[in-house]
Amino acid sequence: MQLLDGTACSQQIRQEIALEVEAIVAAGKRPPHLAAVLVGDDGASQNYVGMKVRDCEEVGFGSTTVRMKASTTEAELLAKIDELNSNDAIDGFIVQLPLPSQINENNVILAIDPKKDVDGFCPENVGNLSLGLPTFVSATPNGIMELLRRYEIETEGKHCVVLGRSNIVGTPIAVLMSRNTNPGNATVTLAHSRTKNLKALCASADILIVAIGRTEFVTADMVKDGAVVIDVGQTRVPDNTRKSGFRNVGDVDFEQVKDKCSYITFVTGGVGPMTRASLLQNTLKAYQRR
Ligand code: NAP
Repeated sequence: MQLLDGTACSQQIRQEIALEVEAIVAAGKRPPHLAAVLVGDDGASQNYVGMKVRDCEEVGFGSTTVRMKASTTEAELLAKIDELNSNDAIDGFIVQLPLPSQINENNVILAIDPKKDVDGFCPENVGNLSLGLPTFVSATPNGIMELLRRYEIETEGKHCVVLGRSNIVGTPIAVLMSRNTNPGNATVTLAHSRTKNLKALCASADILIVAIGRTEFVTADMVKDGAVVIDVGQTRVPDNTRKSGFRNVGDVDFEQVKDKCSYITFVTGGVGPMTRASLLQNTLKAYQRR
């Protein structure tokens, strides 16, 4: 079994980006700039935005955090998005999800200028992804593809089972893996909570990508010998032995499954850091396109 090391891979990507930023600045231009909108005071969201800002600093990007109170109305948030859309100093921005219940997430996504939609959630970018046109691929699927590419994992003609059909992970990764690209060219089955014979289906996968948010759901009997297993799941469970008071648990029972796999990601240092690196790649792309 070989561990797919998302931390090492993402560090490589950051170094590549940092070099590009150095060259941009040396040429007398301003560096790329990412803004993050944080509504409310959800601990996990604050954490994620904090990490994204630190990532920007590390590669030399500018960054802005827009903090809005939990009682922000949809109209107030849409007005802020308008401002960011027309602010020439900002190349791309994200609105950290989830949003408070009074705000309709779809209306927010629809309001973001697709050219600045570095999360790749807007219909135009999702449509371009499906058509194989230039786009911002949302960060997690992009990170998974990059991990497969950098480890030179053979995907052509393989059976890839994607477990979970969310708009931000399962559906786009299923599209990407089925496209005529490398990585890609896999025969893809997209499974979800209504899929029959899930265990047998998963056990038939050469490549199993799991994004369901159910802790340690994938057990050894669901994994074929020699399979590549990508665990996207990340659920916080209380853990008093940790300073933070919690730990992240994946959707795959790593200890049970690892020895059956040719390659596997671990919940820490796997898909998470690749997702963060992808946001930086998308921000650089947004800057270069302008
Ligand atoms: P989501 O919106 O939470 O949706 C879950 C999906 O899993 C749905 O399609 C659901 O099916 C399916 N599902 C749930 N229980 C199932 C079961 N017992 N059997 C089969 N399918 C089942 O998904 P998400 O936003 O992609 O998040 C999934 C996990 O990935 C979460 O743990 C999240 O924290 C993590 N995540 C991690 C990263 C990262 O950077 N590492 C990024 C994004 C998400 P139905 O559609 O039928 O309901």
